[in-house]
Amino acid sequence: MTVDAPGIRFELKRSSNPVPAAERAEALSHLTFGTLFSDHMAVARWSQDRGWHSAEITARAPFPIDPASSVLHYAQEIFEGMKAYRTADGRALLFRPEENARRFNQSARRMAMPELPEADFVAAVEGLVAADQDWLPEGEASLYLRPFMFASESFLGVRPSREYIFCVIASPVGPYFKGGSKPLTLWVSQNYSRAARGGTGEAKCGGNYAGSLAAQAEASTKGCDQVVFLDSAENRWVEELGGMNLFFVMADGRLVTPSLGTILPGITRKSIIEMASAEGHIVEERPYSFDEWQADAASGRMKEAFACGTAAVVAGIGTLRHAGGEFTIGDGQVGPTTEAFRHKLVGIQRGAAPDSFGWTR
Ligand code: PMP
Repeated sequence: MTVDAPGIRFELKRSSNPVPAAERAEALSHLTFGTLFSDHMAVARWSQDRGWHSAEITARAPFPIDPASSVLHYAQEIFEGMKAYRTADGRALLFRPEENARRFNQSARRMAMPELPEADFVAAVEGLVAADQDWLPEGEASLYLRPFMFASESFLGVRPSREYIFCVIASPVGPYFKGGSKPLTLWVSQNYSRAARGGTGEAKCGGNYAGSLAAQAEASTKGCDQVVFLDSAENRWVEELGGMNLFFVMADGRLVTPSLGTILPGITRKSIIEMASAEGHIVEERPYSFDEWQADAASGRMKEAFACGTAAVVAGIGTLRHAGGEFTIGDGQVGPTTEAFRHKLVGIQRGAAPDSFGWTR
């Protein structure tokens, strides 16, 4: 079988050594995040003289990397994160994969890397899910998909690489919240920022995450689940979490979410804006300061706050901790608007609710 796409063709070369079914079933019975991998990977190569070529879905295996590979020195690397879901009637669904394809190319442009035609990106992902469909878990678990691209030329000069490898791997993952959704406790980082105007905050490049780890470690030492980043210029405007976007639910039904510019344009964020607008909510994409957050939580003007992203879908925020103390939002529990958005999105993603927006395939 080959997976047809208008550009390159991902030829399927089945692994001759797949994990035996009993071993796979055992592994799928106790899932965590990001430790278990399926049998195959999708790979394609790009070089300046040939463009995209050598596309295949093949046995998952290490890449031989030259010590001078430019990704190891200058971090020219981008990635995406998405999931395939198993429906109750056994089908595999992807949620808005063309949005991931588009964002991947936005990241590629920012990092001076070649774009991959959107249809080829989606064909690679679909081809891998088809090849590894036995790895798609049932129930609340899902198959996390990680498309990525890195600079593979052996060259130490500082300029865009002339060779790249695109790859997609798949990892069965358990539900983000085991035993129901618990409210998050967040740490507001005042020592570290994630992105600056003109920087790479809007791109999904590995370096952004390397730079966030010290802040996340600080959050952990404060007993918090995740870190909230503020803007780098004034240390005043709320941006996003290490791996999720933010929404605030006001008492009058209005939703507020930080504007794009230096944050990752989340696909869950975009979907919630579209869904909430269709339901008649007013959604404000605007700068929102940490001072406003404190004041609105204290006055009761803010009823709920939640974080959203592919991993957790929608996660309620209970408490904010910062250098000067801490405060709760609403009653500190996951609120009804948060829960309703989570329920509706998960329903569409798993094929349990009508897909009135045409988001799944
Ligand atoms: N912000 C950051 C920094 C992220 O890493 C992610 C996860 N991709 C998100 C937001 C949420 O994006 P999405 O809804 O597309 O998963």
